Amino acid sequence: MRTILTGVRANEEPTIGNFLGAYKSMISLAHEHAADSNINMFVPDLHSFTTPIDHDKLYDQVIKGVKYYIAAGLDINNPNIHIYRQSHVPAHSELAWILDCFTPFGEASRMTQFKEKSEEHSNAVTVGLFNYPILMAADILLYDAEYIPLGEDQFQHLELARNIGIRMNNKFDKGLFTIPAPEEEQVKFMHLEKGLRIRSLVDPTKKMSKSSENQKSKISLNDNPAEAAKKIMSATTDSEGVIRFDMINQPGISNLLTIEALLNDRDIQDVISDWAGQTSYGDLKKKVAETVEHFLADFQEKVAAISDEQVEAVLQKGEAYANTVANTKLAQVQRAVGVRK
Ligand code: AMP
Repeated sequence: MRTILTGVRANEEPTIGNFLGAYKSMISLAHEHAADSNINMFVPDLHSFTTPIDHDKLYDQVIKGVKYYIAAGLDINNPNIHIYRQSHVPAHSELAWILDCFTPFGEASRMTQFKEKSEEHSNAVTVGLFNYPILMAADILLYDAEYIPLGEDQFQHLELARNIGIRMNNKFDKGLFTIPAPEEEQVKFMHLEKGLRIRSLVDPTKKMSKSSENQKSKISLNDNPAEAAKKIMSATTDSEGVIRFDMINQPGISNLLTIEALLNDRDIQDVISDWAGQTSYGDLKKKVAETVEHFLADFQEKVAAISDEQVEAVLQKGEAYANTVANTKLAQVQRAVGVRK
């Protein structure tokens, strides 16, 4: 059975960028494919402290992350849907070490996200931050996952995972790992034209990042809905004076049109046509602000209705499954590299 897999780190409160780029794609793929595919939605909690966080909050944030998956629409009663924590499946870290030894330093050094993040956190650049794409490769290869719904920022890491898998297959055994589909195929599988990148509300040339310290740049999933609406009203736009979808010259307006379409489950082209040629940025902002406010209120209500006991039961089931699959693959890799008979 094919495996579709994704995860959202639990380091900070996720944003609507995470919701639209990862949760929403995964949930619609789950609706489409859960009858004949494994849907693995994990919390990459070991990835959470590649940059500094408040560790006292991490555990609760992870549990909340699971509630978010459920609130976003994952059907926890479907036997093919598996929710688990990376830290509770030790094979992830063990495989990461083995993959480290088959990843040329130069190749890992080309990851642009490492360059960006090490500039952002210049006083706390750790080996973990450098190494995390290889742990991500282990997250994927352990389960023979073919499709990985991701935002655009992660495609370079996906390519790295493919390269590592191909390299090991060539060296040891052509059937060792299933190689995840390349970027174009992933995007097609997600029914997108290209990878999605929701932009910062303050600087729309950059992505909306959950680790940004500027609260006005992002809409977090736990934002007060009315406050979030105000952030949309003060989003940076441009001085062109006409509503057009043009990510190069009008990234702020294009970002608002994208948010409006995706949160309402509408085709982006239809939303662009609705607003084409209109000149009031205020009207567009008001509409998007209403959409965001309504979305957050509804989502937060769903999250509040999920109990910790429910989460515990879901994780117990998911982690039993994940450990079985991951340990089988790890043993196969250990045999290939010669540490197990
Ligand atoms: P991270 O925040 O790095 O844990 O990312 C989790 C998932 O959310 C990944 O699939 C990212 O590609 C996706 N993601 C994060 N930020 C955005 C964004 N601004 N727009 C679209 N997808 C995003």
